[in-house]
Amino acid sequence: MYQLPPMNNNEARGPQRRSSSFSRPGGGGQRSSGGASRGYVGNRPRSSSGGYNDRRPSGGSSSYGRSGGQRSYSSGGSRGGRSGGGRGGRQISTFDVSNFINRNPIVTAEAAYVPTHTFAEFGLAPEITRAVTAMGIEIPSAIQDQVIKPILEGRDVIGLAQTGTGKTAAFLLPTIHHTLENRNRLTLILTPTRELAIQIEQELRKLTPHMKLFATVCVGGTNIRPQISGLKRKNHFIIGTPGRVQDLMERGHIDTRQVTTAILDEADRMLDMGFIHDMKAILKDVPQDAQTLFFSATMSKSIEGLVHDFLNDPLTISVRKKDITESITQDVVRYEPHHKFDLLVTLLSKPEFSRVIIFGAMKHSVEKLGQELMKAGITAESIHGNKSHPQRQRALTRFKGGQVKVLVATDVAARGIHVDDVSHVINYDLPGAYEDYVHRIGRTGRGDKRGSALTFVPA
Ligand code: AMP
Repeated sequence: MYQLPPMNNNEARGPQRRSSSFSRPGGGGQRSSGGASRGYVGNRPRSSSGGYNDRRPSGGSSSYGRSGGQRSYSSGGSRGGRSGGGRGGRQISTFDVSNFINRNPIVTAEAAYVPTHTFAEFGLAPEITRAVTAMGIEIPSAIQDQVIKPILEGRDVIGLAQTGTGKTAAFLLPTIHHTLENRNRLTLILTPTRELAIQIEQELRKLTPHMKLFATVCVGGTNIRPQISGLKRKNHFIIGTPGRVQDLMERGHIDTRQVTTAILDEADRMLDMGFIHDMKAILKDVPQDAQTLFFSATMSKSIEGLVHDFLNDPLTISVRKKDITESITQDVVRYEPHHKFDLLVTLLSKPEFSRVIIFGAMKHSVEKLGQELMKAGITAESIHGNKSHPQRQRALTRFKGGQVKVLVATDVAARGIHVDDVSHVINYDLPGAYEDYVHRIGRTGRGDKRGSALTFVPA
């Protein structure tokens, strides 16, 4: 049984932060022009072998929902600017404050995964293995250990894995290998957000130094012309968000009949964001014998429908973690309305709040909070739907690079963001749904790190 913290007093005990065993030196990338031709070969026979079938249900009961006679707070009207419709998440209109408290997180959240392969054993091209080593990646993560081989064998795969599991490299490494074997291959990667598309392209560049493999990122909210010019050149990878990819298809710049590998990353989020029709329209003309890979944190009915329509005898591999929230220290901060901002500034002034993401409800309130923090002497950037794509990228880069210590964000703008070493997530405004809460706090405590989440609730 826990005690409610005293008024205006944050009692969260910041967990000790361990340094990661992963080092990620920045890799150089290149985009030089190549030949203009684009041919379709990729007529790879499907292998029926594999032997992987780790179809573990996603299960994992939440540590939340503990009763305790706590007060509930309505979250009415606090939803951030959500784009797209059709969100199937569980909506909650009131919150039991105990949902936001977990002062004694499980220290060893996951038993360390023991991989059955080394990177050298996959039979990847030596330059790929060298690039992996150069990135400081030594041991395959669980998803990599289990999907690289079947993808190399040409199988369609459903990977149930969250961000932070190394899933990007899991699908990129074998796909790069296939592309080096046959440079006429074209891989189309769909992601829910621009930020995720850009992150994938950055990872691709790190994994393919001097390999003369080219990619064009096709995302909305940014000038389409450079994307069109990029598409006119030889591409091995097209990475984009469904809306913009479809737009470019309609304009005749992307021909999905040329696609030899289609990858849907965070497929569940794409569906949440209402991209179902775009996804179907994009996949419709991808050749039957193309390899299709689905990555998703969850397996919903709509995903099953897509899988049924577009995947061929897929292998399902699940590396879902238990409940990420169990490893994050969580607490509430009670505030009196007039002191909410001052309380935030006091918290942010503490040295342990070294890299903080603050979630706000509305685009304009997020913008205002960022500005007020700057006035209060706290370096901050904000990202929300009213900012242009370059503005959002700049904010993210400055936050990632440590030039500012705080990033204020709406739920939608924060989707797919991967920033290392976030010490704290602060819910300055309550999330609109439990899923949003879990997603928000999952920005901290990534990988083997410990994290801390604080939620402001009225006193
Ligand atoms: P992702 O789940 O793809 O968002 O990956 C999260 C981060 O982990 C990325 O920055 C990767 O560079 C990094 N990473 C990928 N694979 C490994 C690995 N096997 N070991 C350590 N770090 C990794």
